[in-house]
Amino acid sequence: MDTIQSDNYPIYFDNSIAELAGFVARGKYTNVFILTDENTGQHCLPLLQERLGDNFDLIEVNAGEESKTIDFCIGIWKTLIDFGADRGSLLINLGGGVITDMGGFVASTYKRGIDFVHVPTTLLSQVDASVGGKTGVDVDGIKNIVGTFTQPKAVFMVADFLQTLPPRQVLSGLAEMLKHGLICDADYWNTLKVSDLTVPSAELVHRSVQIKNQVVIEDPTEKGIRKSLNFGHTIGHAVETYSLLNDADHLSHGEAIAVGMICEAWLANQKTGLPDEDLAEITAVLTTLYPPYKIAADCHKDLYALMQKDKKNYGGKINCTLLTHIGQYSVDNNCTEDELCDSLKYYAAL
Ligand code: NAD
Ligand code: ZN
Repeated sequence: MDTIQSDNYPIYFDNSIAELAGFVARGKYTNVFILTDENTGQHCLPLLQERLGDNFDLIEVNAGEESKTIDFCIGIWKTLIDFGADRGSLLINLGGGVITDMGGFVASTYKRGIDFVHVPTTLLSQVDASVGGKTGVDVDGIKNIVGTFTQPKAVFMVADFLQTLPPRQVLSGLAEMLKHGLICDADYWNTLKVSDLTVPSAELVHRSVQIKNQVVIEDPTEKGIRKSLNFGHTIGHAVETYSLLNDADHLSHGEAIAVGMICEAWLANQKTGLPDEDLAEITAVLTTLYPPYKIAADCHKDLYALMQKDKKNYGGKINCTLLTHIGQYSVDNNCTEDELCDSLKYYAAL
């Protein structure tokens, strides 16, 4: 598969681990660090060690979003200091979106910036988090509130890593892939629809990375076309936060986005001319892949309140990216409280 060229760095798909070993050797780095969490340390690190040998220092953090905080960054910065990391050091971020976001942030600020590369190990981090140069951490539970736009030196995609991923983590990344098809590539959506998505193939991951990469190259700071990536996310983010606050076993990001895409497809059918048959198809595909989420009528107000806090709003209005057809989008569609609540009702009645 082709290497994809991003802003100023390559995204490798074939022989990625050999490419990484070559990259490290060519870079003549003074120190090489690998950042993992406990799961990627167990499942993914051994494959890297086979190629890189022991010429690196390991930094491991606890798995999960709870680690994506400034406190953990301080721990990592202190470890870098203890190991004598200078500006000629390299940080290899081996993990899901938590590790790539936090590792990118740590590297982009340590000594005003050292080189870093991503080796994303979850589907979500391969098709989304590792592409686009956003780094960051959460503060006081507010997601990604502190961070930088800094590009990695390279990204290395390793299809094998998806084999150990729990099925719910696969579904989480899959929602973004389905979104990529829905917003700008009907053929890709049609392919996804009939593919075995238990572990999506490297070819499918490659197509999603192409789409995300194209969008972020054209619009690095979210002034226009990057808003297409927000499809499903206005309602999806509210559902995700609501579930985090209320459910013991809360929804993953992708599971919430799947709910959001169904609701926003309904809105698109009402407001931007998405044909009835497209709405029916999107609803059928997503409800087959994702378990139903119970949205009681009495939580509509809470969800609407969460949507009002969405950072994509301006002028006090809630603006959604909607579809006009499968594969075509329209941005900045102002939606009223009644419309948003009716879309939740559509979902709840399925
Ligand atoms: P994650 O990094 O927490 O990984 C999910 C779980 O899978 C963790 O428990 C992890 O240890 C485990 N895991 C990782 N790789 C594994 C493997 N190969 N085998 C078995 N288990 C493995 O979460 P995520 O879903 O990858 O990413 C979510 C994060 O990404 C969020 O913090 C989100 O804000 C961020 N994100 C960032 C961007 C961006 O543009 N920067 C885009 C989307 C999401
Ligand atoms: Zn998303």
